[in-house]
Amino acid sequence: MIHSISSSLSTLRADIKCLAADAALQKNTPRLMAVSKTNPAESILEALQAGQRLFGENKVQEAAAKFPALRQQYPDLELHLIGPLQRNKVKDALATFDIIQSLDRPELAEELAKHWNLQTRLTQSLFIQVNTGKEPQKAGIPPEETIAFTQWARREKNLPVTGLMAIPPAHENPSSHFAWLYQCQQQLGLPELSIGMSGDYPAAIRYGATIIRVGTAIFGERGGAAPTPPPKV
Ligand SMILES: *Cc1c(COP(=O)(O)O)cnc(C)c1O
Repeated sequence: MIHSISSSLSTLRADIKCLAADAALQKNTPRLMAVSKTNPAESILEALQAGQRLFGENKVQEAAAKFPALRQQYPDLELHLIGPLQRNKVKDALATFDIIQSLDRPELAEELAKHWNLQTRLTQSLFIQVNTGKEPQKAGIPPEETIAFTQWARREKNLPVTGLMAIPPAHENPSSHFAWLYQCQQQLGLPELSIGMSGDYPAAIRYGATIIRVGTAIFGERGGAAPTPPPKV
């Protein structure tokens, strides 16, 4: 079967609509983010031509190289940072992305606050990344500190935090993580919850995701490797 970005997108859109209609926690259909990291501009253009507007990238430099030209063609394109942000890249990140979903530590909040007023794009906001599984190799605020950190970032640093983002541990059932995140989001009164990837977006939709972040299921496996042929019986 030939992989087509536009057919993957339309299958996903139908699936998301269906899942959201059955989910008690869903008031609106969640938005589909196309995670385009490592994929070339031509693939992103194909998604844009198929009506996709929300994209996610995990590296500032890669996004800054690919997206400005695409934005000229599609001014309503929306781009979020979903990967770790170094303090020395904050200015570039603010110039490149509409939303930074990876606010994961106090030093980054300090740096963002320093540069925030220089920015003119009024739609810009931030999500707090939560390390719900407390995994040492993963970025994010520990779950028990999430409420206090969010309130500090909003009140003390005047940062416009509008959501939570998380990547649950790869080898656990994500449902309990998603359920906890939903409760936390409600308690904080934040409008956005960014959870769910290619492998677990149906569960994320059940637990109230407002944005699901899907890469592989749209663009195919990263790294350009051909799909593995089925084993010979
Ligand atoms: C790569 C990535 C995704 C998309 O993962 P897929 O499994 O390819 O859908 C989602 N969120 C983050 C933070 C990522 O880095």
